[in-house]
Amino acid sequence: MNARVKQWVRPEIRELHAYHVPNSHGLIKLDAMENPYQWPHELTQSWLDRVASVSINRYPDPGAVALKRCIRDVMGVPAGADIMLGNGSDEIIQIIAMAVSGPSRSILAPEPTFVMYRMIAAFCGMHFHSVPLKSDFSLDVTAMLEAIEREQPAVVFLSYPNNPSGNLFSRTDVERIIRETDGLVVIDEAYHAFAEDSFLSDVLKYDNVVVMRTVSKMGLAGLRLGFLAGSSDWLVEFEKIRLPYNINSLTQVSAEFALEHQSVFDAQTQQICRDRKELMKALSQREDLHPYPSQTNFILFKVPEGSAARIFDSLKRDGILIKNMSAAGGMLADCLRVTIGKKSENSAFLKALDKALAEMASVGG
Ligand SMILES: *Cc1c(COP(=O)(O)O)cnc(C)c1O
Repeated sequence: MNARVKQWVRPEIRELHAYHVPNSHGLIKLDAMENPYQWPHELTQSWLDRVASVSINRYPDPGAVALKRCIRDVMGVPAGADIMLGNGSDEIIQIIAMAVSGPSRSILAPEPTFVMYRMIAAFCGMHFHSVPLKSDFSLDVTAMLEAIEREQPAVVFLSYPNNPSGNLFSRTDVERIIRETDGLVVIDEAYHAFAEDSFLSDVLKYDNVVVMRTVSKMGLAGLRLGFLAGSSDWLVEFEKIRLPYNINSLTQVSAEFALEHQSVFDAQTQQICRDRKELMKALSQREDLHPYPSQTNFILFKVPEGSAARIFDSLKRDGILIKNMSAAGGMLADCLRVTIGKKSENSAFLKALDKALAEMASVGG
């Protein structure tokens, strides 16, 4: 390594691996929790008209006033709560971490969970503490409270529902963690559209809670837009770190347009939930597989010991890209994660999966 790089780039950054996005060209893409549906043709046309009206020579509205108003209405942000927008909720995680970071500061989250909490803690020079979930992926509240007491984290992240397990933590468990944490608790509701519960309407009940959402999983992953809702006490501070024009003009008008047609996305997410139920049933019927309950647009499932990589590769050869979680080890050993696609994509996945399982059986596992 170039000696100057070694001298100046922080060791914890040199140790990291950049977030890897696999090449999906030509494959049925069931790896990244995207909504598989495009917009109806008429909608695309009127969206393009709206986009054409943007003065691209000008900076975007730094406050994204119109878009924020629209988000408040459509998402039901409680009156009195502030909102802050991010270039994806990833950016919001980064802003929160930057606001609290310091040499003796830490972030805490259960494990396994969304990998960006840990990565961003490292970017910001913070310690990261993780507390294993129980074997059914529920919160180990006793262990969480002990770790929170011991480590005094500045921020606790709870993915509600959790990625990559797909389950919704018990609400009472989350409430207990909120009450017994001195720092900020961020409820990450990236999958709220597919879940049966939310903390958004309770966000002002506590003085240490903010709720984060994104439009990515509901069907607008390409826009890069997330928002944080909470009391202005917290959000005024986070706003100072947000770069002035983080939400570009095309995203602002496109998201506004999309939210005016929320019913289209609602219909799509309902379809995805119905198809999730079907896929869950199909996976449960296969003797060798153990799928975990999901309140998201993906299903985590366990395959026979030591076979995750072979099944993943076999699916890929058949043109289907899912996510192999097995390398993370621990509770994710032998686990694969599949995003709910269109009906035809789900059937293609099942067919390829059956073929992979049969291949394994014929070579003796
Ligand atoms: C996908 C995901 C995000 C990131 O969403 P973006 O808005 O696309 O950056 C955040 N949290 C969880 C739990 C996710 O699964």
